[in-house]
Amino acid sequence: MPSVFPGLCADCVFSRRVESGRSTFCLCERALTDPQFRKYPPLPVWSCPGYERKGAPAPPANPEPDDKLTG
Ligand code: SF4
Repeated sequence: MPSVFPGLCADCVFSRRVESGRSTFCLCERALTDPQFRKYPPLPVWSCPGYERKGAPAPPANPEPDDKLTG
């Protein structure tokens, strides 16, 4: 990780460590497809709408409707 504590980027699934010479950066892979994110966000990131923790369970792709709430 970079010498500056990266905040949320430290354990975000979209963060990729990039080394350049003696410097290390966090590259936000969300920025590659969504312009609201910066490719190299200023660190530390304390709040981010795109944050997803590494290892967190993924939400169901096609949730079943709750039949107790219908009809
Ligand atoms: S989505 Fe947010 S928290 Fe995740 S790598 Fe990008 S800037 Fe960092």
